[in-house]
Amino acid sequence: TRTTREWQAADAAHFLHPFTDFQALAAKGSRIITRGEGIHIWDSEGQQILDAMSGLWCVNVGYGQQALVDAATEQMRTLPFYNSFFQTAHPAAIALAETLAELAPPGFQHVFYGSSGSESNDTVVRMVRRYWDIQGQPQRQILIGRHNGYHGSTMAGASLGGMAAMHAQGGLPIPGIAHIGQPHWHEHHRTPGTPEERAAFGLEAAGWLEAKIQELGPENVAAFIGEPVQGAGGVIIPPATYWPEIQRICDRHGILLVSDEVICGFGRTGQWFGCQTFGAKPDLITFAKGVTSGYVPLGGVLVGERVARALIERGGEFEHGYTYSGHPVACAVALANLRLIRERDLVRQVREDTGPYLAQAYAALADHPLVGHAETCGLMGALWLVRDKATLQPFGPEVGIGMACRAHCFGNGLIMRAVGDRMIIAPPLIITRAQIDELAARIRRCLDLTLEQAQR
Ligand code: PLP
Repeated sequence: TRTTREWQAADAAHFLHPFTDFQALAAKGSRIITRGEGIHIWDSEGQQILDAMSGLWCVNVGYGQQALVDAATEQMRTLPFYNSFFQTAHPAAIALAETLAELAPPGFQHVFYGSSGSESNDTVVRMVRRYWDIQGQPQRQILIGRHNGYHGSTMAGASLGGMAAMHAQGGLPIPGIAHIGQPHWHEHHRTPGTPEERAAFGLEAAGWLEAKIQELGPENVAAFIGEPVQGAGGVIIPPATYWPEIQRICDRHGILLVSDEVICGFGRTGQWFGCQTFGAKPDLITFAKGVTSGYVPLGGVLVGERVARALIERGGEFEHGYTYSGHPVACAVALANLRLIRERDLVRQVREDTGPYLAQAYAALADHPLVGHAETCGLMGALWLVRDKATLQPFGPEVGIGMACRAHCFGNGLIMRAVGDRMIIAPPLIITRAQIDELAARIRRCLDLTLEQAQR
């Protein structure tokens, strides 16, 4: 074993990290994470850290689950790899497809596999365009996403997403992608908003989709894609009126609705899928992350009846797929993971117990002088840090309040993510009430330290 400094030196010398400023990394060195157990990870200095982000929103059953390790070991021994091209299959991929069809909302009987969220969303672009080809409407090419949405880092995924910094690099978006605004109350309003005002705003934000469809011509639009709750964008929880109205607009124009459930899927919002929490009935669902709790890479597209029937009955060969589509080890781990979630009844626990308990803890944190707004959905939470609580005046970007808070978290054994001035969490679904108390206490302490620093 090597010292932390030795790991950091080798890291900076050879490893180009994703979403990382290489100069900053070389100057400061990475934090080296060596081990995980339950909701905690440990770094190379032996410090225990409460991982309130579940890695990257994925370690839903927590670290160190032996059942997942055993499933991987057993599958590697029996059949470590086989493909599913050219009319071959294997039991793990078939059994998982069956299980996913059971867990999915009604009307989903089929799955197309990939290895990540990005690949799943790339698959969606090709699949919906293929669908409209089969329907004899090949001019329906355009997919509509949202500003500040995140759908991955491949050319199509990053194009569907609406991250300005990503679009600025590599010639994005690709042709045939359009964007509308996000349903983010505080982007437009410096008031808390009454329930009535927020409900009206949900309808207004959905109306931007109608306007965009009219601008592009409904006959040219293939699909709309959105995350039930925007995760990487800062845990933007839409008003309850938003998704049902989006659904109505898509239905009115016959446009396919795609729910990106890479974060929200498999219990995060208190239902198996986020679209169930928000009252939408999508045609396609993309998933990844939580399907294996991140132990091995797996993703895919749940394909609803409308698209599945066209592809299967009239589509001929779908010229698309990945070497690792339905990777046996990944599928075996997913089966073990989903079994564990069911056995422990974690989805109901999030809905009825730990989700509401986290909401209470966040309501209490809302009285902190730095917090302009605190909100949760299931086991996702956001704290908006403001300069003046009374007027909701934000800090300027030059202050870097989120990054300051994040640094205090890091120093105090807590992982929270900063998205601008929003501090966000998505802890493992196994978190207990007592651990939520501990989490809230640590957050409060980090907020205090951040406030002290801001006042100096
Ligand atoms: N979609 C959403 C909603 C995500 O949050 C992410 C990753 O954070 C992705 C897609 C991309 O997934 P991956 O990083 O597995 O390609």
